[in-house]
Amino acid sequence: MSIRPIYLDCHATTPVDERVVAAMLPYFTEYFGNPASISHVYGWEAEAAVKQTREILAAAINATPEEIVFTSGATEANNLAIKGVAEVYFKKGQHIITIATEHSAVLDPCNYLKTLGFEITILPVKKDGLIDLTELEKAFRPETILVSVMAANNEIGVLQPLAEIGEMCHQSQIIFHTDAAQAIGKIPLDVQGMKIDLMSLTAHKVYGPKGIGALYVRRRNPRVQLAPQQHGGGHERGMRSGTLYTPQIVGFGKAVEIALAEQATETQRFTELRQRLWEQLSQLSGVHLNGHPQARLAGNLNISVEGVDGAALLLGLQPVMAVSSGSACSSTNTTPSHVLTALGHSPKLAYASVRFGIGRFNTEEEIDIVAKHAIATIQSLRNSAFVNLGSRE
Ligand SMILES: *Cc1c(COP(=O)(O)O)cnc(C)c1O
Repeated sequence: MSIRPIYLDCHATTPVDERVVAAMLPYFTEYFGNPASISHVYGWEAEAAVKQTREILAAAINATPEEIVFTSGATEANNLAIKGVAEVYFKKGQHIITIATEHSAVLDPCNYLKTLGFEITILPVKKDGLIDLTELEKAFRPETILVSVMAANNEIGVLQPLAEIGEMCHQSQIIFHTDAAQAIGKIPLDVQGMKIDLMSLTAHKVYGPKGIGALYVRRRNPRVQLAPQQHGGGHERGMRSGTLYTPQIVGFGKAVEIALAEQATETQRFTELRQRLWEQLSQLSGVHLNGHPQARLAGNLNISVEGVDGAALLLGLQPVMAVSSGSACSSTNTTPSHVLTALGHSPKLAYASVRFGIGRFNTEEEIDIVAKHAIATIQSLRNSAFVNLGSRE
């Protein structure tokens, strides 16, 4: 049997939508020009395509096309935002605030800056994964230059209150960066209404290609300055040199265009599928939902399971479904997820967790197969744990 497991790991990546692939293809062979070539039609064609994606992304977040800087993905966008701000504004202050549940692409640049002498405050989150706004306010100092809080969490799907954070940062004249890798195309984003100064985006979580992303950089009220992290030909207004990857950029634009057009119906459909899955799984005792029940991505269900071993659980699920465990983004499977431990879970319970990432191509039938198999796996592990109780605990 070479049937592959059902893909339910859409926070890790998504398949590229066929419509996106179709839009990209001519830009490999026919319209292959360098968008920076200004003296002939090959360059103009490529530049026109890049401009179109800039416009789509800008419209998606209520920015202007000049405020979009293309990068290789959200990791690079986060690095450019955080290190780029630190290098320009260090004379004003050397304090940065972020939260415990951020992606490593935010936490690690912050930790790097710490080695250079910056002070980093990593705020804890509440049990539901949400930031405590009074704690944020208390952390503000005269020397705070940047607050980085993600839009949607990649493990538990929790949506942070961006507008409230933006307002607070704006009042105190602190630059506000948000990692919106999981949010673009899935929830409404508005850099004006939410007073966001920097926003990281990526294509591959929203049915676009891997290896392309963008950083929104505010140009007015205030104008945010960034030190480039990659020097060269001066592309992207000097903020990110390197020949633009036209086919990927075209795919990014198409993916976001489709996601916006389908956002309302997909949100509805994913919510129903998630409910369907949760209604079945929650019939078992000792199964906990991780993260706020409402303030979360429609396609995210993250559970912790009492009375089972995390590694055994994932192993049992693997033949039927492609999901991630409570050690999601780390390469060693011995450290439990920093996101789940930030919710106050014991390492053991954090480790016995499963992230279901429902996406565009999942069906009700698949959800039922997954639910049935997950329940059977948990029950059988619990039964054998009971038999071996003396030796295990
Ligand atoms: C996937 C992801 C990233 C990394 O994005 P890449 O484009 O793969 O570099 C960063 N932050 C969050 C929240 C993510 O989900």
